[in-house]
Amino acid sequence: MSVIQEGLAWINGEFLPLEKARVSVEDRGFQFADGIYEVIRVYDGKPFTFREHLERLKTSAFLIGIDPRMIKADFQEIGMELISRSGIKDAELYIQITRGRAPRSHVFPKGIPPTVLISIRSVRPLPLDAEKNGISAITYPDIRWARCNIKSISLLANVLAKEEARNASAYEAIFIREGLITEGASSNIFLLHQGVLLTPPADWRILRGITRDILMALAIKEGIKVSQEELKKDLIYEAEEVFITSTAIEILPVVKVDGRVIGKGTPGSTFKLLHRRFKEYVEFRIGGKNKGDEGL
Ligand code: PMP
Repeated sequence: MSVIQEGLAWINGEFLPLEKARVSVEDRGFQFADGIYEVIRVYDGKPFTFREHLERLKTSAFLIGIDPRMIKADFQEIGMELISRSGIKDAELYIQITRGRAPRSHVFPKGIPPTVLISIRSVRPLPLDAEKNGISAITYPDIRWARCNIKSISLLANVLAKEEARNASAYEAIFIREGLITEGASSNIFLLHQGVLLTPPADWRILRGITRDILMALAIKEGIKVSQEELKKDLIYEAEEVFITSTAIEILPVVKVDGRVIGKGTPGSTFKLLHRRFKEYVEFRIGGKNKGDEGL
């Protein structure tokens, strides 16, 4: 029995129901995970921080040697078309670009167009009462490669980590590399420690999250001291508050790590304040006269 999926795709120039969209088995995304992606949140029919996501997509393409001039897609126009054709108002827009279709061989094929997929589907529901009660996480060895700043579709290590989290009845796995906290399997991490908001620096070890950058700016605006620094694993258990950020989950409080209670075991006041400010910022960017392009 096939599962009917809600959602719509645009693939290499054509609009199709998501479950009808196809790529070749010789696509390098399928063969080598040779590609990059972005997830953009749509609120009430309006994409949030589209410009920032497209900038990061361009950077990822550049870093893996895909020539942006070969990408023939107007992401803004197709994204808006997917929103209006699908009628999905609270959505995740997904963009994936691979190096294209070619007979299997590791070296770059020459002169072939990249495969471009843009799709839309409803937002995935958060775990029950996650914002109200917080979520649990585990720590997990960061077995990923040394280019985590690239938003690569090669996510096997992240998949293994998430599955381990689920097996431990936790929602997120926090990667630890050489004794240091890096990020979640699909999120960035923040610790509130002695009143200072700490997060690992945006180097090769993490993806520089768009939500992360917004959160730091909002915290600074609130007069909260923010520091990007290397964080030893044990600091996580000593933190007053821990939260994770991403496009899909926005900000979620982490109240338990490896079965150990964080702070008071409930979402803290800094989380609550920044969560409120984040929601207001979303309203500001998508609402009213604002075209959605104004930064903080
Ligand atoms: N790190 C990783 C590994 C991720 O997969 C994500 C989610 N895309 C993030 C961080 C958060 O990035 P963003 O806030 O831009 O969604």
